[in-house]
Formats: sequence, structure tokens, C-alpha cells
Amino acid sequence: MKILANDGIATIGKQQLETAGFTVVTETVPQNDLIQTINNENYVALLVRSATTVRKDLIDACPSLKLIGRGGVGMDNIDVAYAREKGLHVINTPASSSQSVAELVMAHLFGAVRFVYDANRQMPTSGITEFKTLKKKYAKGLELRGKTLGIIGFGRIGQATASYALGCGMNVVYTDPFAEKTTINVKVGNQLVAVELTSYTKEQVLTKADFISLHIPKLGQPTIGNEEFARMKDGVIIINTARGGVVDEDALIAHLNSGKVAHAALDVFENEPTPREDLLKHPKISLTPHIGAATLEAQDRIGEELASQIKELLL
Ligand code: NAD
Repeated sequence: MKILANDGIATIGKQQLETAGFTVVTETVPQNDLIQTINNENYVALLVRSATTVRKDLIDACPSLKLIGRGGVGMDNIDVAYAREKGLHVINTPASSSQSVAELVMAHLFGAVRFVYDANRQMPTSGITEFKTLKKKYAKGLELRGKTLGIIGFGRIGQATASYALGCGMNVVYTDPFAEKTTINVKVGNQLVAVELTSYTKEQVLTKADFISLHIPKLGQPTIGNEEFARMKDGVIIINTARGGVVDEDALIAHLNSGKVAHAALDVFENEPTPREDLLKHPKISLTPHIGAATLEAQDRIGEELASQIKELLL
């Protein structure tokens, strides 16, 4: 049976599928040629990440397809309900990148409290002439230990983030209507330490937290807008690695400019892939281009998770 991994698959996943007897092709077929290629080659499975789209026309035109796999979480690029209605398996790998996103949150947080992001911008241009001025500018850093991280949305990534924050000696408060009580296993050396946490209301999290990290799906309205900013501590830091639009970008800029929010870290943007320039150039925002899930370890886990599901469903 032949599988087309059109946006690639980690070597380990490919090997596991090949060992199980599948032929795995990883050459990218242009979107417009996909239907013809799938039919000519009799592919039974099409694996994608975010680049390739799988819409109704393709599903209807490719009777050999039995499975569509998304390496990663979001399946906006696949007509999932329609494919399932037509009897296809549609799978993804939701847990594989939680740890990677959580580590990016911590990277932004460590970078924010010591101005690493800004020092990295200023040192190449002014490090020789303005060394002492920059030293003074970045002299009022904070430590994370002992501070309170507020987490909004306590699913896979929220919980993974909590485990890192607890491991750094931070306090964690969270809100999630579907996770009233949660046990977080924090890895300390080779021991696991169980930490019991209880959900707060969103309002309580907003008022208690020194730093706030968002880990919810995009809902109709922004989860953080003017009303929510008003409840936060002065000098709060906001981290959004969830989805663009979860934080109202106009309100964020206004509260950064007023000084209410000390810093924001963004991995996701409302207008991807062309985020607004005033966000990108803002001196109080550290930025990454939606790379939360993008680690080699996550790619390996994605490949392995896809391979094991495909073996179970198609063999
Ligand atoms: P998840 O489904 O495991 O967790 C989401 C949690 O949000 C759930 O526990 C749910 O109960 C909770 N929730 C829903 N509505 C809520 C509300 N109103 N208030 C509080 N909590 C609420 O999802 P996940 O895998 O943890 O992903 C979280 C977010 O991260 C998603 O938006 C996802 O798209 C995003 N993500 C980003 C990247 C990246 O590269 N930056 C990678 C993967 C996922």
C-alpha cells in the first residue's frame, strides 16, 4: 500500500511505516496535480501538515484514499467532516508538540524578564558605543522563581507549560471550565513530583497572575481584550502561543503603550502570514513566527504517532 506524505514525515515515522510494508513517498506534489497523482499511483493515504489542503473535490475524486493524516493539531486545511462522512479515516497528532510549545513559552518568559529579546536587537548596533547605557537600560530584570504564572486553557499545552513553570519554582494558577482539578507531574531529576492544582475563575487568574499564558482554542471573541487587561496587575507580561485573535491586538498595543502591560510575547498573529507591522516593530514585544510546535523531537513524535495510527487503521 502506498502513502503520500506530501508535506514530509520524520525519518523515524517513514521507517516504521516501511518496516510494516507500506511504500512511503515524500516528494511534494503541487496542489493542482494532487488528484491526478493520487489516482495514478493508487495512494491509500495522504499525509499533510499545514501546506497541503484536502478539500471535498479531492476527497470525491480519489476513491483509492482510505486515510488522511495531519501531522500536528489544527485540521483547518482538511474537510474533516466530509471525509469522515465518505468513510475515510482522518487522524492527527494532537499531543506530540505540547512539550515543544511549552518550552517556547518558557523561552519567551525567560527572555522577557531579562530583556534578552531587546538586548539582542540593540547590542549589534549600539553594543560598542552605548555599552554602559544598555547595561543600565536592562538592569531591572526580574526572576521567575516565586512569581505566579496564570494559564488560561488547561489542556495539553497549558498543563505542559505548568509543569515547566512549577519546575522553575513558580506558582501556577489556571482557569479551564473542563479541568476543575488537575494533577501535574513535574519531572525533577529522575523523579516525578505530583502537584495538585484547582481551577480558578478567569477573573481570579487575571488578577493574581504576574505573567499570563494563553492555551485555549480561538473562540468567537478575543479571550483577552480591554476588559481583561483592566483587571490585570500593572506590569503584567502576556504570552500568546495559542492562536492569533485570542488576544485583541489593538487592545494589546494600547496597554503596552500605556505601561499597563510590561511586555508581550507572540508566536501567533491575527493576520498570518502577514502580521501587522506595528506589532512586529513594537519595542515591548518579543516575536517568533508560529514555531511553537517546530522542534525536531516533536517532528519525530508526530512521525511515530502517525505511523502507529496508520498501522492500526490500515493493516
Ligand atoms: P487542548 O484542546 O488540549 O486544550 C485547550 C483547553 O482549553 C481545553 O482544556 C479546554 O477545556 C480549554 N478551554 C476551552 N474554552 C475555554 C475557556 N473559555 N476558558 C478556559 N479554558 C478553555 O489544546 P492544546 O493542544 O493545549 O492547544 C492549545 C492551543 O495551542 C490551541 O489554540 C492550539 O491551536 C494552539 N497551538 C499552537 C501551536 C503553535 O505552534 N504555537 C502548536 C500547537 C497548538
